Amino acid sequence: MQNLKDWETVIGLEIHAQIISKSKLFSGASTNFGSEPNTQVSLVDAAMPGMLPVINKDCVEQAIKTGLGLNAQINKRSVFDRKNYFYPDLPQGYQISQFTQPIIGEGSIEIDLKDGSSKKIGITRLHLEQDAGKSIHDLEPNKSYIDLNRSGVALMEIVSEPDIRSAEEAQEYVKKLRSILRYIGTCDGNMEEGSLRCDVNISVRKKGEELGTRSEIKNVNSIKSIGQAVDYEFKRQTEIINSGGKIDQETRLFDEKKGETRAMRTKEEAHDYRYFPDPDLPPLEIKDDWINQIKKKLPELPDVKKEKLIKEHKISSYEAAILVSDKNNVEFFDKIINENKKRNPKNIANWIIGDLFSLLNKNNLEIKNSPVKAEDLGGLIDLIEDSTISGKIAKNVFEEMFKTKKKAKDIIEKKGLKQITSTDEIENIIDKVLNNNKDKVEEYKSGKEKLFGYFVGQVMQETKGTANPGIVNEILKKKLAN
Ligand code: ADP
Ligand code: MG
Repeated sequence: MQNLKDWETVIGLEIHAQIISKSKLFSGASTNFGSEPNTQVSLVDAAMPGMLPVINKDCVEQAIKTGLGLNAQINKRSVFDRKNYFYPDLPQGYQISQFTQPIIGEGSIEIDLKDGSSKKIGITRLHLEQDAGKSIHDLEPNKSYIDLNRSGVALMEIVSEPDIRSAEEAQEYVKKLRSILRYIGTCDGNMEEGSLRCDVNISVRKKGEELGTRSEIKNVNSIKSIGQAVDYEFKRQTEIINSGGKIDQETRLFDEKKGETRAMRTKEEAHDYRYFPDPDLPPLEIKDDWINQIKKKLPELPDVKKEKLIKEHKISSYEAAILVSDKNNVEFFDKIINENKKRNPKNIANWIIGDLFSLLNKNNLEIKNSPVKAEDLGGLIDLIEDSTISGKIAKNVFEEMFKTKKKAKDIIEKKGLKQITSTDEIENIIDKVLNNNKDKVEEYKSGKEKLFGYFVGQVMQETKGTANPGIVNEILKKKLAN
């Protein structure tokens, strides 16, 4: 066994986020996902000789919005560079990107951790660049195909500082970044479709020492994989160093099936790419006026909404963080509150985070496709609050609602689940139970007080769980005291 106590993981993430925009970064071709191959390729995207790129203003605006969402410096002057490399799906022979002068400079993101603490992760930069096309190798054994639909699509590359120290922090960082992008509508954050792709840079060191040599794990494309890749690399790298070896700076691939990383190539240096300013594009200059206009249009960000939820509704920071992690959660919550201001916000949060999320997870559903709509959950909560049903019965009713899409009211009526609150009725049932259990009543009175729970259970059984537990307890106590 290695002693890993003194070691720590150092992680920096590079995220490629596809910009939500009708057309590409330097051409008018469409960016629709899933169209027939090579149907969305302009002459610019195919790199025909003599074609000239023209910057798409919408994409620039999206980058500025994102910069504002990341509390980052907006650089009023930035420069597009050519990053030269050969790849069959890159017809230009270079990618137009930004290198020394990106559009967005330093910023930060605040993440919430399981232990209740929060941490600031620095953003180094955000730059604009074009995506490449796609090579397809698995259609025929001896041929490869190229689909250029993606060629030229606008990406934001968002680079973090090496501030991340664990798999959990890396995952929370990506989740938080994704939620910010979705709130402001600059990237749909869909990792399965590849609109958000993550490269994980990771090194290990003894605490307090200089940064170690990193490996870069390419295209780790789910939150789960990010956690696995970090854990795997930590183990691999510490093992190598502990047995006297040295980490090579290399690019590695994550194998989702095996949960392992493996070497792909040694890392290129910046000079391998022979970066130079693209002579076809003048430097990008942004005026204060425009930035201010964009600022005014910016929607409320998750951190601001979170503070509001805590202040207005007195829910915990943990609950608020979960709710704001997805815009759809907040909308669900707000809808229930706004429909009836008397509803208890804490109960609503508990129902969403507890019972609803658990069933959604089990059924692999997203909240926007929930079979129980916000107004239906609101209706159920009202029926608990006005004592029509008990909290316990409500759990079963909720499951039934989820399964059948029926309203709480209808299920309760049909199944006779209405809570019995009439003291007379409950007293009758208690009398019956005590009469049928005379021997146990004697035992109870001679000191076996544990039997109280048994009597409660019997009453509940008689009433199929619908007797109001408070009233049952009260009357039972009185009766057993004589
Ligand atoms: P490149 O463009 O060559 O990948 P960058 O300098 O842009 O290199 O760094 C890429 C990422 O690697 C950044 O997110 C940065 O925080 C991270 N990083 C840099 N050094 C280390 C290190 N020693 N360990 C872990 N991550 C690192
Ligand atoms: Mg890199």
